[in-house]
Amino acid sequence: MRCPFCRTDNDRVIDSRAGDDGASIRRRRECLGCRRRFTTYERIERQLLTVVKKGGVRDPFDRDKLKRGLAKACWKRPVTDDDIEAVVASLEAELYGMGESEVPSRVIGERLMELLKALDQVAYVRFASVYREFKDVRDFVDELEPILAQSPRPAR
Ligand SMILES: [Zn+2]
Repeated sequence: MRCPFCRTDNDRVIDSRAGDDGASIRRRRECLGCRRRFTTYERIERQLLTVVKKGGVRDPFDRDKLKRGLAKACWKRPVTDDDIEAVVASLEAELYGMGESEVPSRVIGERLMELLKALDQVAYVRFASVYREFKDVRDFVDELEPILAQSPRPAR
């Protein structure tokens, strides 16, 4: 780190501590050239993900928007906010783990559907009906049928 006073690029760290927000580190340094002290802040850089939509439109990855969409799909289903948070966190971990800065929206949609399918089948179909572009009603029914076959109507 170059000294702000004498421009010497040689210092020692006297003290390091976490910043108030917990996402930064504050370091107290002493310049070995002029012995003056200065403070630096290190901040964790969160790589921003860009979602590439059909037609090439690019949008920043928006986890809140995603959560709202999932909450809608899970409306009146036995799915808690924690479940939804876990799905989003799991998806995020995968996306960031891919190490790509741009992710096609299709990849996100498909992965989300897999995660939802494991969580709640009705929520999955609702979500799929919105996010996957069904070519026609037939596709939607194809998706729905095996699920309906598995869950008989509750007795009245
Ligand atoms: Zn200096």
